[in-house]
Parts: sequence; structure tokens; C-alpha cells
Amino acid sequence: MKICIDAGHGGQDAGAVGPSGLKEKDVNLKVALYLGEILSNNGIDVEYTRKEDDLLGRNSSESLRKRVEIANNSGADYFISIHCNAAENSNAQGSEVFIYTIRSKAKNMAEEILNKITETMGFVKRGVKTASFYVIKNTNMPACLVEIAFISNPREEKVLSDDKMQQKIALAIAKGIGNALGIDIMEVKKGKVIAKSGLNVRKGPSTQAPILKAYKYGEIINIYSILDGWYKTDDGWVFGRYVEFI
Ligand SMILES: [Zn+2]
Repeated sequence: MKICIDAGHGGQDAGAVGPSGLKEKDVNLKVALYLGEILSNNGIDVEYTRKEDDLLGRNSSESLRKRVEIANNSGADYFISIHCNAAENSNAQGSEVFIYTIRSKAKNMAEEILNKITETMGFVKRGVKTASFYVIKNTNMPACLVEIAFISNPREEKVLSDDKMQQKIALAIAKGIGNALGIDIMEVKKGKVIAKSGLNVRKGPSTQAPILKAYKYGEIINIYSILDGWYKTDDGWVFGRYVEFI
């Protein structure tokens, strides 16, 4: 499974700009990179149209063509474009996800993404809508364009500007994608084992639980969840005191 992630705008095209100066292109990129990290940690291949502050062309039509070209050459199964919305009315709020037509094979994914974002972030659900946006019209694979929230709304701009919230949004989008694909997406953190003599991996989150194996000092491990100071890893549970997040 491969997903092509498109962070909208970039370079000289800031996209929409919020009342306090937050640029859409920056939010889109941060969320796109977090999203890609979560998906690849969960075994999904990722292609990005951009990983930097770059428009991908001299003007926006060149940029849009380039994005579609990257997507179509990537062999991706789905295309997800990340944007923030804007309106003249600063009270306009909420999330919407666009597909090209109502018969799009991305319709279910669009609905799942919208459900997860609105559930997780408390944004108003404006719905899954259709539009002839260039990138969702011209990509070969099922495609969605996510308008996370309104950068023109001061309250939503504040949420969009926050690094932790950007991670939360990315996780919500990832879970929506996962729901549509039947993949249980987990938020993975990386940790380093700091127990000098190694760290026991146990069957459950307790020193009473049987030992399954041991990690070596300095080993890098995946952490999927935390319970009472214990971390769930690929192999079992370890005591969190001997792991340092990296
Ligand atoms: Zn945009």
C-alpha cells in the first residue's frame, strides 16, 4: 500500500494567511510530514510531492502539474492533498474533504478522514464535497483533498499553529486512512534503551509477567502505547524508566 501525500502550496505561494500571520503552506507541510511518518511507521509506503518549502514550479499551474506528475509516477494507491481553508467571514469554521466526483473510489476514505478529524479535534463537520480541483481531478489514483480547518478563523488558526495539534491532526488523518484500508494505525514513538545491562521484555505490563526476551543497551525500539509507566513494544512490554524517547 502506497499513499502519495501532497502538502498544498509552498515557496512563493503561501496559500491562505491567518489573521496572526500563520501561513497555510507551513501548516500543510508540517501535517504532511507528520502524516507520512505515522503511515510509514505503520508499514504504509509514502511518497511526498514536497518535503520542503518549495512551490515545485515557477507558478501555480506548473506547480499543480508537477504534483500530479509526481503522484502519477509514484505508483501510489491513493493521493491525499493537505490544505487549510479560508473565508472572508472570520467566523467560518470546520473541516471538509473534497473528492472529484461522488463516484470517486476515495469517497469512503474521505468520509473516514473527515470523521476522524472532526471527532479528534472538535472541528465542525462541513462534509465530504465534490470539486474539480486540479490535483484530485488529474491524479490517476483515488484522491482526496483535506481542508483541515479555517486558517482565517482566529480560534482555528491558533490550533493549526500548534505543533502538538499538528501531530494530532496528522494522527487523525492517518487513522481515517487506516479505517478506510482496514489497517489499525498506531501512533508510534521511537525510544532508546538506556538500561546498561539490557532491558527485559515482558508478556504484560508488570514485573510478574513472564520475560519474553531482552533488548540491548542502546537499541532503538518502537513504542505503541503507555500504561502505568510500562511501554508496549513490538515484542511485549518494557519498564519505561529504562527507555528514553528520541
Ligand atoms: Zn490551500
